[in-house]
Amino acid sequence: MSGNTILVIEDEADIRELLAFSLERAGFTVLEARDSEEALRRLEGPLPDLLLIDWMLPGMTGIDLARRLRKDPLTAELPLIMLTAKSEETDKLKSYDVGIDDYVTKPFSPRELVARIKAVLRRTGAPEAGQLAFGPLVLDTQSHRLSVGDDNIHIGPTEFRLLEFLMRHPERAFDREQLLDRVWGRAVYVEERTVDVHILRLRKVLKPFGFADWVQTVRGVGYRFSPPADSAGSR
Ligand code: CA
Repeated sequence: MSGNTILVIEDEADIRELLAFSLERAGFTVLEARDSEEALRRLEGPLPDLLLIDWMLPGMTGIDLARRLRKDPLTAELPLIMLTAKSEETDKLKSYDVGIDDYVTKPFSPRELVARIKAVLRRTGAPEAGQLAFGPLVLDTQSHRLSVGDDNIHIGPTEFRLLEFLMRHPERAFDREQLLDRVWGRAVYVEERTVDVHILRLRKVLKPFGFADWVQTVRGVGYRFSPPADSAGSR
């Protein structure tokens, strides 16, 4: 089972392991980083759904990391939860100034932490793992299947990720650079033309089912997923 992805940034190995264990047991997919620099490297790939950041990190502190993420348009809206020690009351307040979504004090109860994470994910509108559906078109992020009614549609991994991203943001136009950042990840060097190639492949996959024109070209911008209004998108 793979749920929302949480990036845990904590330098103390035993706490990091406890966090990973608790979150995985709650159904989350967990990525780990030992410090801010490692976290930033990880964020060059596909983005997680939420970051759990320890305040006290060697090098760049958790709060400086949070500040930096908020300034970058790519990560500005990533939900952040800060882990703090009990004595840092005033620091907690400061953390709200940089846009922390919530904080959890150590020692924490795993159950409480999971509840806070779920609350933040709901509040910030992070997509839940599971099914994305528009009319009969259903994309299942857990089984990695695309289907129309009872038919499974054969789709390549890149087209799947591209369609998943577009289905999570219907009616929004994205330029090629944004799609490269969000679907391929910043660390990968690919030309913008690559996006066009995969959009064409995606349309080809959808065409026999009559959904090719849901993936629209927006002149001068890029692409948009635009299902008919009566397909009533669901998450
Ligand atoms: Ca620490």
